[in-house]
Amino acid sequence: MSTLRAIGMIDTQLIENISRIYRRISHAAIRAGRKPEDIKLIVVTKTISIQQIKKAMDAGLRIFGESKVQEAQTKVMSDELRVMNNGIEWHLIGHLQKNKAKTAVELFEMIHSIDSLELAEIADKHAKKAGKTQKILLQVKLSDETSKYGISKDNLFGLIKKISELKNLSIKGLMTIPPFFESPEKARPYFSELRALRDAINESRVTSRELQDLSMGMTNDFEVAIEEGATMVRIGTAIFGERKYCHKEAQ
Ligand SMILES: *Cc1c(COP(=O)(O)O)cnc(C)c1O
Repeated sequence: MSTLRAIGMIDTQLIENISRIYRRISHAAIRAGRKPEDIKLIVVTKTISIQQIKKAMDAGLRIFGESKVQEAQTKVMSDELRVMNNGIEWHLIGHLQKNKAKTAVELFEMIHSIDSLELAEIADKHAKKAGKTQKILLQVKLSDETSKYGISKDNLFGLIKKISELKNLSIKGLMTIPPFFESPEKARPYFSELRALRDAINESRVTSRELQDLSMGMTNDFEVAIEEGATMVRIGTAIFGERKYCHKEAQ
């Protein structure tokens, strides 16, 4: 690390990574006949230091994704980042425990990981108290190999009908995490399946408003996700490099 980088004045690597990601997002969108501006970059900052996040904000990034409520709270409330919160959005992309729902509603513009009616009802209650309409996505589990959490396809339509009746939540779309594959092409069927589910939900009119968003695609497979209709890609490693976990944070 150069001296300038070490004292935090400049981070050419970060800037390069960011511009490369935007280029790749644009190319994937154009390949699929889509507009690059219809795809939001969620910058995944779990385990990333406040100093690094501040640099990413300085570089113009605006939407940040955290997987744990407490870690996000420490960052959002820090002196360094609080002052920059103008125009910044924080999204929760990891599993939400019921006892953290109150803080989550206070912190996050969008919660990507609603996966049960009970959790939705609790979030709704806290949103009401906070005088807020909480934007949410429903996390869908598309196979047994995918992440532990998520609503199964069989339960999705019934659940979405009930959750859409909660007045203080606004369902914007669906989120999924496919299994990890070396070859991103192998993730494609999961992405196209999530899009098909969203379209089927919209056609069946179980919700009064159409679902738009598909939160899918990470460092290894975001271009394929964009080709299959992702409106939000969640990217950490390609921006900040490999994460260094300490024991406590390992997941
Ligand atoms: C960590 C994480 C990401 C980012 O993964 P990268 O491979 O580092 O881009 C995206 N989504 C979720 C839910 C995550 O937990």
